[in-house]
Amino acid sequence: MEPLIEGVHKFRNAEFGNYRKLFRKLSQEGQSPHTLFITCSDSRVLAELITQSKPGDLFVVKNVGNIVPPASAKGDTNSTAAAIEFAVSTLKVNDIVICGHSQCGAIGALLSKDPVSPCTPHLRDWLNLAAPAVETIKRQYAHLSDPNAQATAAAEENVLFGLENLHSYPCVQERLSNGSLRLHAWFFKIATAELFAYSPETHRFAPLVESDGSNI
Ligand SMILES: [Zn+2]
Repeated sequence: MEPLIEGVHKFRNAEFGNYRKLFRKLSQEGQSPHTLFITCSDSRVLAELITQSKPGDLFVVKNVGNIVPPASAKGDTNSTAAAIEFAVSTLKVNDIVICGHSQCGAIGALLSKDPVSPCTPHLRDWLNLAAPAVETIKRQYAHLSDPNAQATAAAEENVLFGLENLHSYPCVQERLSNGSLRLHAWFFKIATAELFAYSPETHRFAPLVESDGSNI
């Protein structure tokens, strides 16, 4: 707990001055984030840090494995669906980014033969939502001897599967049909903090920016 309390002190004393006006404005005018950013709960993936976003910019959903359930998923699996509907219908975000990442524990669990302990039934059911994407990779990439390559392929496939599932939400369909919403599949490589974006034209994930920082 100490690091959190120290961080609160540091924020109040050293950082808050830079944000005072912005927080006051956001409290008065409400939030109007431009992007719904869906990523993994993994502690190494910080949406605001890697996109250098400010308070009010991103509506962030973090869940185990950055999974997007289909609209038909109910009950325990539906809090991400609620966030999608709120961001798309009420906040009217312009973009949705689903961002997977390297070394994802959720993907690792799905790829392993003995995925989840019986004492974590919610986790088991949640991860099962992404099982179809990972099964595809298991079949297609069975020839890959490098487990990292298979895990990366599975994490990328899971992001694309999430993108596909987004289309099952009526509110998303409506915004897509009138051209007011864009969908993006991203992948974050932890070791180098690089971001890759999926191109529907090339069917590949390519770096979002060159290593010197310029746009591609
Ligand atoms: Zn993860």
